[in-house]
Amino acid sequence: MVEETKIRDVVMIGAGPSAMTAAIYTTREDIDTVMYEKAVVGGMAAITDMVDNYPGFPDGVEGMTLAAQLEAQARRFGAEFAYGEVTEIRDNGDTKTIVVDGKDIEAKAVLIATGSDYNKIGVPGEAEYYGRGVHYCATCDGAFYRDKHIAVVGGGNSAVQEAIFLTRFTNKIDLLVRSTVKASEVLQRDLQELVDAGKIEIHLGTTTDEILATDGKVYGVKITHDGEQRTLDVDGVFVFVGLSPNTGFLETSAIELDEQKLIKTDKHLMTSMPGVFASGDVRSGATMQIASAVGEGASAALGIREYLEELKRKA
Ligand SMILES: Cc1cc2nc3c(=O)[nH]c(=O)nc-3n(C[C@H](O)[C@H](O)[C@H](O)COP(=O)(O)OP(=O)(O)OC[C@H]3O[C@@H](n4cnc5c(N)ncnc54)[C@H](O)[C@@H]3O)c2cc1C
Repeated sequence: MVEETKIRDVVMIGAGPSAMTAAIYTTREDIDTVMYEKAVVGGMAAITDMVDNYPGFPDGVEGMTLAAQLEAQARRFGAEFAYGEVTEIRDNGDTKTIVVDGKDIEAKAVLIATGSDYNKIGVPGEAEYYGRGVHYCATCDGAFYRDKHIAVVGGGNSAVQEAIFLTRFTNKIDLLVRSTVKASEVLQRDLQELVDAGKIEIHLGTTTDEILATDGKVYGVKITHDGEQRTLDVDGVFVFVGLSPNTGFLETSAIELDEQKLIKTDKHLMTSMPGVFASGDVRSGATMQIASAVGEGASAALGIREYLEELKRKA
């Protein structure tokens, strides 16, 4: 049972890889730490089938296993986990008020590690085959599609960049663009070279209607162009239609966000609100990878330690 009346040293918002790593560092140094998680402990890592690029696991590791190991390690040093959604952070100077499910929790420092969600296209098959044929990160999952046929959905900078990146693994890529390609000129030039080389085919004015699978395996994507529907045979679909950082609850706070609504931090990972830090996929400049989220969690914990020591010196 989490103590709700005392002033906590640190409240961490979200219990993904970034916050759990930060909690390993803080609790190991006897900094009283509680994490509030609104959904699944382990965050996006916990819902990833297989993580192939996290160091230390030569054969890859199941996302669930990695998340459980991080949780066990944080608990070993005394980190507390609680379920609840944070809806507000208020600055009272040397303490902060964190509103969790309508209750006020006081803390000296806060770590925001709420991650980002990938925008979805909302078609049948997308949710069912999430991470098992439908993907949102080429760096994470591109290597599973060596010499396979894939569709990339989207026409902005990220879709074009990721489609270009995916040509490292396969030369059979269909780029499905609802209207026109809106990427930067440089990217469009690089894209055209790959189109000319026959590695990417662009389908403009094309909607993606359904992702098709049989026996749990994606085999095609249903598309419509000029009112005509047809099926493309593909082994996987990569969707790049934007990112939604989980920062909606900061709208009324003075914490500065960038144009994508990711949290701006200084080199110690402190936000524009003194004593409030941010790490992982929610931070402006994040690389959206577990290894980076974990590294930033460690850096944020060291920043928090410094901040708490400074508060003590002032008192
Ligand atoms: C399908 C898939 C496959 C992936 N594969 C790989 C891979 O192979 N390799 C790799 O390196 N990366 C991969 N990634 C990316 C990786 O999962 C993320 O980079 C990493 O999990 C980010 O960690 P984080 O702690 O910053 O955020 P998250 O893991 O997103 O955790 C944030 C947590 O905060 C919680 N939260 C959000 N808002 C609130 C709130 N207001 N109150 C309380 N809790 C809140 C969320 O519920 C979540 O649990 C993959 C992602 C997906 C979706």
